[in-house]
Amino acid sequence: MEHDPSPVSRAAYDAVCAERDQLLTLLRALPDISFVLDEHGVYVNVIGGTNEAMYVSGQNLLGHALHDALPTPLADECLHLVRTAIESGELQTIEYCLRAADVPVLPEEARTGTRAAADQWFEGRVLPLPAYDHTNRVALWVAVNITPRKQLEHYWQEVAHTDPLTGLANRQRLFERAHQEVERAHRHQHPLALLQIDFDHFKRLNDVYGHAAGDEALRRITQSCAGILRDADLMARTGGEEFAILLPETDSDGALDLSRRLLETVREVRLPDFAPEVRLTISIGCATLRTKESFDRLMRRADEALYEAKASGRDRVCANQGSQEP
Ligand code: GH3
Ligand code: MG
Ligand code: MG
Repeated sequence: MEHDPSPVSRAAYDAVCAERDQLLTLLRALPDISFVLDEHGVYVNVIGGTNEAMYVSGQNLLGHALHDALPTPLADECLHLVRTAIESGELQTIEYCLRAADVPVLPEEARTGTRAAADQWFEGRVLPLPAYDHTNRVALWVAVNITPRKQLEHYWQEVAHTDPLTGLANRQRLFERAHQEVERAHRHQHPLALLQIDFDHFKRLNDVYGHAAGDEALRRITQSCAGILRDADLMARTGGEEFAILLPETDSDGALDLSRRLLETVREVRLPDFAPEVRLTISIGCATLRTKESFDRLMRRADEALYEAKASGRDRVCANQGSQEP
Protein backbone atom coordinates (compact mmCIF):
# COMPACT_ATOMS: atom_id res chain seq x y z
CA MET A 1 0.00 0.00 0.00
CA GLU A 2 1.19 3.56 -0.81
CA HIS A 3 2.66 5.41 2.13
CA ASP A 4 0.34 8.32 2.99
CA PRO A 5 2.08 10.67 5.38
CA SER A 6 0.20 13.37 7.20
CA PRO A 7 1.04 17.01 6.17
CA VAL A 8 3.41 17.35 9.12
CA SER A 9 5.23 14.09 8.60
CA ARG A 10 5.28 14.60 4.79
CA ALA A 11 7.78 17.40 5.29
CA ALA A 12 9.98 15.07 7.35
CA TYR A 13 9.53 12.28 4.78
CA ASP A 14 10.48 14.60 1.89
CA ALA A 15 13.55 15.72 3.85
CA VAL A 16 14.62 12.09 4.38
CA CYS A 17 14.09 11.33 0.67
CA ALA A 18 16.08 14.41 -0.32
CA GLU A 19 18.88 13.43 2.02
CA ARG A 20 18.88 9.86 0.65
CA ASP A 21 19.05 11.22 -2.94
CA GLN A 22 21.93 13.48 -1.94
CA LEU A 23 23.81 10.55 -0.41
CA LEU A 24 23.23 8.38 -3.50
CA THR A 25 24.43 11.20 -5.76
CA LEU A 26 27.50 11.57 -3.58
CA LEU A 27 28.29 7.83 -3.57
CA ARG A 28 27.83 7.52 -7.34
CA ALA A 29 30.12 10.53 -7.88
CA LEU A 30 33.04 9.07 -5.88
CA PRO A 31 36.11 8.99 -8.12
CA ASP A 32 37.46 5.70 -6.67
CA ILE A 33 35.49 2.48 -7.00
CA SER A 34 34.03 0.31 -4.22
CA PHE A 35 32.21 -2.98 -4.25
CA VAL A 36 29.91 -4.75 -1.84
CA LEU A 37 30.84 -8.43 -1.98
CA ASP A 38 29.03 -11.21 -0.15
CA GLU A 39 30.65 -14.08 1.70
CA HIS A 40 30.43 -16.28 -1.43
CA GLY A 41 32.31 -13.67 -3.44
CA VAL A 42 29.30 -12.34 -5.38
CA TYR A 43 29.28 -8.64 -6.37
CA VAL A 44 26.18 -7.22 -4.63
CA ASN A 45 26.73 -3.51 -5.31
CA VAL A 46 29.16 -1.23 -7.16
CA ILE A 47 29.75 2.33 -5.96
CA GLY A 48 31.62 5.24 -7.57
CA GLY A 49 34.50 4.80 -10.00
CA THR A 50 33.70 7.98 -11.98
CA ASN A 51 37.40 8.62 -12.67
CA GLU A 52 37.39 6.96 -16.09
CA ALA A 53 41.13 7.43 -16.50
CA MET A 54 41.65 5.09 -13.55
CA TYR A 55 38.67 2.72 -13.51
CA VAL A 56 36.60 0.72 -15.97
CA SER A 57 32.88 0.79 -15.11
CA GLY A 58 32.13 -1.99 -12.64
CA GLN A 59 28.38 -2.23 -13.39
CA ASN A 60 28.84 -5.41 -15.45
CA LEU A 61 30.23 -7.17 -12.38
CA LEU A 62 26.91 -7.06 -10.51
CA GLY A 63 25.55 -10.53 -9.82
CA HIS A 64 28.78 -12.22 -10.93
CA ALA A 65 31.17 -14.01 -8.60
CA LEU A 66 34.83 -13.09 -8.08
CA HIS A 67 35.76 -16.33 -9.86
CA ASP A 68 33.81 -15.24 -12.98
CA ALA A 69 35.54 -11.87 -13.00
CA LEU A 70 39.16 -12.43 -11.99
CA PRO A 71 41.98 -14.85 -12.80
CA THR A 72 41.61 -17.84 -10.42
CA PRO A 73 44.66 -17.22 -8.12
CA LEU A 74 43.58 -13.59 -7.57
CA ALA A 75 39.92 -14.57 -7.11
CA ASP A 76 40.99 -17.14 -4.47
CA GLU A 77 43.01 -14.50 -2.64
CA CYS A 78 40.20 -11.90 -2.80
CA LEU A 79 37.56 -14.33 -1.56
CA HIS A 80 39.81 -15.35 1.32
CA LEU A 81 40.23 -11.67 2.22
CA VAL A 82 36.47 -10.96 2.09
CA ARG A 83 35.80 -13.93 4.39
CA THR A 84 38.60 -12.95 6.76
CA ALA A 85 37.20 -9.40 7.00
CA ILE A 86 33.69 -10.75 7.72
CA GLU A 87 34.88 -13.36 10.26
CA SER A 88 37.41 -11.16 12.07
CA GLY A 89 35.50 -7.88 11.84
CA GLU A 90 38.80 -6.23 11.00
CA LEU A 91 40.11 -4.23 8.06
CA GLN A 92 42.09 -6.31 5.54
CA THR A 93 44.37 -4.86 2.86
CA ILE A 94 45.87 -6.19 -0.37
CA GLU A 95 47.84 -4.86 -3.34
CA TYR A 96 47.07 -6.60 -6.63
CA CYS A 97 47.72 -6.26 -10.32
CA LEU A 98 44.91 -6.60 -12.84
CA ARG A 99 44.38 -5.91 -16.51
CA ALA A 100 40.92 -5.12 -17.90
CA ALA A 101 41.73 -7.62 -20.67
CA ASP A 102 41.74 -10.39 -18.01
CA VAL A 103 38.22 -9.63 -16.73
CA PRO A 104 35.91 -11.67 -19.01
CA VAL A 105 32.65 -10.22 -17.64
CA LEU A 106 33.52 -6.69 -18.79
CA PRO A 107 32.03 -5.49 -22.09
CA GLU A 108 34.15 -6.23 -25.18
CA GLU A 109 35.19 -2.57 -25.69
CA ALA A 110 36.60 -2.41 -22.13
CA ARG A 111 38.62 -5.61 -22.65
CA THR A 112 40.35 -4.67 -25.90
CA GLY A 113 43.01 -2.15 -26.93
CA THR A 114 46.34 -1.13 -25.45
CA ARG A 115 44.84 0.37 -22.31
CA ALA A 116 43.04 -2.86 -21.45
CA ALA A 117 46.29 -4.80 -21.90
CA ALA A 118 48.28 -2.56 -19.53
CA ASP A 119 49.02 -3.70 -15.96
CA GLN A 120 47.01 -1.71 -13.41
CA TRP A 121 47.83 -1.86 -9.72
CA PHE A 122 45.17 -1.53 -7.04
CA GLU A 123 45.12 -1.31 -3.30
CA GLY A 124 42.09 -3.09 -1.85
CA ARG A 125 40.82 -2.20 1.61
CA VAL A 126 38.20 -4.66 2.81
CA LEU A 127 35.84 -3.90 5.70
CA PRO A 128 32.98 -5.97 7.13
CA LEU A 129 29.54 -4.40 6.63
CA PRO A 130 27.39 -6.03 9.36
CA ALA A 131 24.51 -3.55 9.03
CA TYR A 132 24.09 -3.98 5.26
CA ASP A 133 20.62 -5.24 4.27
CA HIS A 134 21.33 -8.47 2.37
CA THR A 135 20.57 -12.19 2.70
CA ASN A 136 24.25 -13.11 3.05
CA ARG A 137 26.96 -11.47 5.12
CA VAL A 138 28.85 -8.85 3.11
CA ALA A 139 32.04 -6.77 3.08
CA LEU A 140 32.88 -3.42 1.50
CA TRP A 141 35.84 -3.57 -0.91
CA VAL A 142 37.35 -0.13 -1.52
CA ALA A 143 39.72 -0.26 -4.52
CA VAL A 144 42.18 2.53 -5.22
CA ASN A 145 44.20 2.59 -8.43
CA ILE A 146 47.83 2.98 -7.29
CA THR A 147 49.46 2.45 -10.71
CA PRO A 148 51.17 5.88 -10.83
CA ARG A 149 52.75 5.23 -7.40
CA LYS A 150 53.85 1.73 -8.47
CA GLN A 151 55.41 3.13 -11.66
CA LEU A 152 57.33 5.71 -9.64
CA GLU A 153 58.50 3.04 -7.19
CA HIS A 154 59.67 0.92 -10.13
CA TYR A 155 61.51 3.90 -11.66
CA TRP A 156 63.39 4.64 -8.42
CA GLN A 157 64.18 0.93 -7.97
CA GLU A 158 65.74 0.94 -11.44
CA VAL A 159 67.70 4.14 -10.71
CA ALA A 160 68.96 2.69 -7.43
CA HIS A 161 70.21 -0.46 -9.20
CA THR A 162 71.65 1.06 -12.38
CA ASP A 163 75.06 2.53 -13.16
CA PRO A 164 74.35 5.92 -14.80
CA LEU A 165 77.40 5.95 -17.13
CA THR A 166 76.96 2.53 -18.75
CA GLY A 167 73.31 1.75 -17.99
CA LEU A 168 74.44 -1.61 -16.58
CA ALA A 169 73.41 -3.08 -13.26
CA ASN A 170 75.39 -1.73 -10.31
CA ARG A 171 77.18 -3.58 -7.52
CA GLN A 172 74.07 -3.75 -5.34
CA ARG A 173 71.97 -5.44 -8.02
CA LEU A 174 74.81 -7.87 -8.75
CA PHE A 175 74.95 -8.93 -5.11
CA GLU A 176 71.18 -9.30 -4.80
CA ARG A 177 70.96 -11.42 -7.95
CA ALA A 178 74.16 -13.36 -7.12
CA HIS A 179 72.82 -14.53 -3.78
CA GLN A 180 69.65 -15.81 -5.46
CA GLU A 181 71.64 -17.57 -8.18
CA VAL A 182 74.11 -19.14 -5.71
CA GLU A 183 71.20 -20.46 -3.68
CA ARG A 184 69.50 -21.83 -6.81
CA ALA A 185 72.72 -23.39 -8.12
CA HIS A 186 73.34 -25.20 -4.82
CA ARG A 187 69.73 -26.35 -4.53
CA HIS A 188 69.54 -27.84 -8.04
CA GLN A 189 73.26 -28.65 -8.33
CA HIS A 190 73.49 -26.53 -11.45
CA PRO A 191 76.68 -24.79 -12.60
CA LEU A 192 77.24 -21.06 -12.03
CA ALA A 193 80.20 -19.04 -13.28
CA LEU A 194 81.55 -15.58 -12.49
CA LEU A 195 83.84 -13.41 -14.60
CA GLN A 196 85.73 -10.51 -13.03
CA ILE A 197 86.85 -8.01 -15.66
CA ASP A 198 89.27 -5.10 -15.48
CA PHE A 199 90.18 -2.82 -18.39
CA ASP A 200 93.87 -2.83 -19.30
CA HIS A 201 95.98 0.32 -18.91
CA PHE A 202 92.92 2.45 -18.49
CA LYS A 203 94.72 5.15 -16.57
CA ARG A 204 96.97 5.67 -19.57
CA LEU A 205 93.94 6.18 -21.86
CA ASN A 206 92.58 8.84 -19.48
CA ASP A 207 95.96 10.52 -19.09
CA VAL A 208 96.71 10.70 -22.82
CA TYR A 209 93.25 11.29 -24.34
CA GLY A 210 91.26 12.75 -21.46
CA HIS A 211 88.50 11.58 -19.17
CA ALA A 212 85.81 11.89 -21.87
CA ALA A 213 87.68 9.33 -23.99
CA GLY A 214 87.79 7.03 -20.96
CA ASP A 215 84.06 7.43 -20.43
CA GLU A 216 83.37 6.71 -24.09
CA ALA A 217 85.55 3.58 -23.89
CA LEU A 218 83.60 2.42 -20.84
CA ARG A 219 80.31 2.88 -22.70
CA ARG A 220 81.42 1.25 -25.96
CA ILE A 221 83.17 -1.73 -24.41
CA THR A 222 80.33 -2.55 -22.05
CA GLN A 223 77.76 -2.17 -24.83
CA SER A 224 79.70 -4.56 -27.08
CA CYS A 225 80.18 -7.10 -24.30
CA ALA A 226 76.55 -6.95 -23.18
CA GLY A 227 75.57 -7.54 -26.82
CA ILE A 228 76.94 -11.09 -26.81
CA LEU A 229 75.43 -12.18 -23.48
CA ARG A 230 72.28 -14.25 -22.98
CA ASP A 231 69.22 -12.71 -21.30
CA ALA A 232 69.88 -14.75 -18.15
CA ASP A 233 73.44 -13.40 -17.74
CA LEU A 234 74.01 -10.31 -15.63
CA MET A 235 76.78 -7.82 -16.36
CA ALA A 236 77.40 -5.24 -13.64
CA ARG A 237 79.78 -2.36 -13.06
CA THR A 238 81.45 -3.10 -9.75
CA GLY A 239 83.96 -0.25 -9.66
CA GLY A 240 85.61 2.42 -11.86
CA GLU A 241 86.74 0.25 -14.79
CA GLU A 242 85.88 -3.03 -13.17
CA PHE A 243 83.00 -5.27 -14.15
CA ALA A 244 81.56 -8.65 -13.26
CA ILE A 245 79.45 -11.03 -15.30
CA LEU A 246 77.32 -13.61 -13.56
CA LEU A 247 76.62 -16.64 -15.76
CA PRO A 248 73.85 -18.96 -14.52
CA GLU A 249 73.78 -22.52 -15.90
CA THR A 250 77.35 -22.11 -17.18
CA ASP A 251 80.25 -24.47 -16.49
CA SER A 252 83.95 -23.74 -16.72
CA ASP A 253 84.19 -24.59 -20.47
CA GLY A 254 81.22 -22.34 -21.28
CA ALA A 255 82.62 -19.48 -19.20
CA LEU A 256 86.07 -19.74 -20.82
CA ASP A 257 84.52 -19.88 -24.30
CA LEU A 258 82.49 -16.73 -23.58
CA SER A 259 85.56 -15.02 -22.09
CA ARG A 260 87.52 -15.59 -25.31
CA ARG A 261 84.66 -14.10 -27.33
CA LEU A 262 84.58 -11.10 -24.97
CA LEU A 263 88.33 -10.57 -25.44
CA GLU A 264 87.87 -10.63 -29.24
CA THR A 265 84.87 -8.31 -29.08
CA VAL A 266 86.78 -5.72 -27.03
CA ARG A 267 89.77 -5.83 -29.41
CA GLU A 268 87.38 -4.70 -32.18
CA VAL A 269 86.10 -1.66 -30.25
CA ARG A 270 87.19 1.74 -31.62
CA LEU A 271 86.90 5.29 -30.30
CA PRO A 272 86.58 7.22 -33.60
CA ASP A 273 85.76 10.59 -31.98
CA PHE A 274 88.49 10.54 -29.34
CA ALA A 275 91.34 8.19 -30.17
CA PRO A 276 90.84 6.33 -33.47
CA GLU A 277 94.25 4.68 -33.30
CA VAL A 278 93.82 3.26 -29.78
CA ARG A 279 93.31 -0.49 -29.36
CA LEU A 280 91.54 -1.51 -26.17
CA THR A 281 91.87 -4.74 -24.21
CA ILE A 282 90.52 -6.27 -21.02
CA SER A 283 91.69 -8.96 -18.62
CA ILE A 284 89.32 -11.58 -17.24
CA GLY A 285 89.36 -13.80 -14.16
CA CYS A 286 87.01 -16.77 -14.28
CA ALA A 287 85.72 -19.02 -11.50
CA THR A 288 82.87 -21.51 -11.24
CA LEU A 289 80.91 -22.20 -8.07
CA ARG A 290 82.07 -25.15 -6.00
CA THR A 291 80.05 -27.29 -3.56
CA LYS A 292 78.70 -25.21 -0.64
CA GLU A 293 80.74 -22.18 -1.72
CA SER A 294 79.57 -18.64 -0.84
CA PHE A 295 79.37 -15.83 -3.39
CA ASP A 296 82.08 -13.89 -1.52
CA ARG A 297 84.46 -16.81 -1.87
CA LEU A 298 83.59 -17.30 -5.54
CA MET A 299 84.31 -13.62 -6.12
CA ARG A 300 87.61 -13.83 -4.31
CA ARG A 301 88.70 -16.75 -6.51
CA ALA A 302 87.66 -14.91 -9.69
CA ASP A 303 89.68 -11.90 -8.42
CA GLU A 304 92.73 -14.10 -7.92
CA ALA A 305 92.36 -15.36 -11.50
CA LEU A 306 92.06 -11.76 -12.72
CA TYR A 307 95.25 -10.87 -10.89
CA GLU A 308 96.95 -13.78 -12.64
CA ALA A 309 95.66 -12.59 -16.04
CA LYS A 310 97.12 -9.13 -15.37
CA ALA A 311 100.43 -10.48 -14.08
CA SER A 312 100.87 -12.82 -17.02
CA GLY A 313 100.52 -10.10 -19.67
CA ARG A 314 96.86 -8.79 -19.81
CA ASP A 315 94.37 -9.20 -22.73
CA ARG A 316 93.64 -12.75 -21.60
CA VAL A 317 91.48 -14.93 -19.38
CA CYS A 318 92.73 -17.03 -16.47
CA ALA A 319 90.62 -19.54 -14.58
CA ASN A 320 90.76 -20.31 -10.88
CA GLN A 321 90.10 -24.00 -10.33
CA GLY A 322 89.70 -23.44 -6.60
CA SER A 323 89.94 -25.84 -3.70
CA GLN A 324 87.20 -27.23 -1.50
CA GLU A 325 88.29 -25.62 1.78
CA PRO A 326 86.29 -22.48 2.77
P1 GH3 B 1 95.73 -2.24 -15.28
O1 GH3 B 1 95.92 -2.71 -16.67
O2 GH3 B 1 96.75 -2.78 -14.34
O3 GH3 B 1 94.35 -2.49 -14.79
O4 GH3 B 1 95.97 -0.67 -15.30
P2 GH3 B 1 94.89 0.46 -15.16
O5 GH3 B 1 95.52 1.74 -15.56
O6 GH3 B 1 93.63 0.12 -15.83
O7 GH3 B 1 94.54 0.36 -13.60
P3 GH3 B 1 94.31 1.40 -12.47
O8 GH3 B 1 93.49 0.78 -11.41
O9 GH3 B 1 95.64 1.93 -12.05
O10 GH3 B 1 93.48 2.56 -13.13
C1 GH3 B 1 92.13 2.54 -13.28
C2 GH3 B 1 91.75 3.84 -13.87
O11 GH3 B 1 90.40 3.86 -14.26
C3 GH3 B 1 91.92 4.99 -12.91
C4 GH3 B 1 90.78 5.92 -13.19
O12 GH3 B 1 91.24 7.14 -13.66
C5 GH3 B 1 90.02 5.21 -14.29
N1 GH3 B 1 88.58 5.32 -14.08
C6 GH3 B 1 87.84 4.78 -13.11
N2 GH3 B 1 86.55 5.13 -13.26
C7 GH3 B 1 86.46 5.89 -14.35
C8 GH3 B 1 85.37 6.55 -15.02
O13 GH3 B 1 84.20 6.49 -14.63
N3 GH3 B 1 85.67 7.26 -16.13
C9 GH3 B 1 86.94 7.35 -16.60
N4 GH3 B 1 87.15 8.05 -17.68
N5 GH3 B 1 87.98 6.76 -15.97
C10 GH3 B 1 87.75 6.03 -14.89
MG1 MG C 1 91.08 -1.47 -11.88
MG1 MG D 1 92.53 -1.55 -15.11
